[in-house]
Amino acid sequence: MAIFKRKKYDKKTIKEFEQALKQQQQELEDKIKELNLREKDMAIKMPDFMANEDASIEADEVEELNNLLSLKMEWENQLERVKGSLERIEKGVYGICESCGELIEIERLRIEPSGRICMQCVKKQNSQLK
Ligand SMILES: [Zn+2]
Repeated sequence: MAIFKRKKYDKKTIKEFEQALKQQQQELEDKIKELNLREKDMAIKMPDFMANEDASIEADEVEELNNLLSLKMEWENQLERVKGSLERIEKGVYGICESCGELIEIERLRIEPSGRICMQCVKKQNSQLK
């Protein structure tokens, strides 16, 4: 009987990361929901914000809304990454570097379960940016 040795983490390890990812997903979704509510609140307070450039809005309120929107965008990006990782678990390719095909270091996944490339490739990318 041939045994195919594929590079991947064992089921138990993957299960751990799956749980961590699902928890992250839940937390992010909750936080985004809360932000959406606050955004709605603010939109009611300043209905002309998008439509009317002359609307008399306090500058700090605009700033608050901008902060809120950029925070939301950041969390939505994170959420996409987490969802992508959960999909990779389903497909059985979780923990494999998208860049070089090697296993991503477990220490790295422990810090960032939604990481998609290994430390070597992170280093390579960082040095290319410099
Ligand atoms: Zn890599």
